[in-house]
Amino acid sequence: MAIQKNHVVELHYKLQEENAEGELVESTFESEPLKFIFGIGQMIPAFEENLEEKSEGDDFSFSIVAEDAYGLYDERAVANIPVGDFAVDGEVKPESIELGRQVGLQDQQGNTYQGIITEVGDENVRVDFNHPMAGVDLFFTGKILTIREATPSELDHGHVHE
Ligand SMILES: [Zn+2]
Repeated sequence: MAIQKNHVVELHYKLQEENAEGELVESTFESEPLKFIFGIGQMIPAFEENLEEKSEGDDFSFSIVAEDAYGLYDERAVANIPVGDFAVDGEVKPESIELGRQVGLQDQQGNTYQGIITEVGDENVRVDFNHPMAGVDLFFTGKILTIREATPSELDHGHVHE
């Protein structure tokens, strides 16, 4: 059976930054394999394009440029926020403006954005709302374990059942 839309694919993968020598981001090889329904938007489209028509037991190795993965790094997604905006009950606690701290910001439509504090000045705090993997090319290697057709209820729910 070759991978097609609406198949449940089980695979092991290793993700590295840029290429085979790049920093390891994650690997399923020492834990549970990844299971997903192919072709319904659960995965990055470029990830699926590289796996289409593969069969059980096949190894794979491919890269995805940043543009087709988590996007290019966007300078406009970096905000300078006045220190005073971090006040709770009129007081800015040092731990709430710590470097590397994750902060959430809500826009007027109620969408929440997660950012990381990358610089702390006297008046402003710099928060980077880019995805941590923005601007990074992805390099995947792995092996297809099993392929089967999704059941009607799996397709209905949009996820894999055990
Ligand atoms: Zn379900």
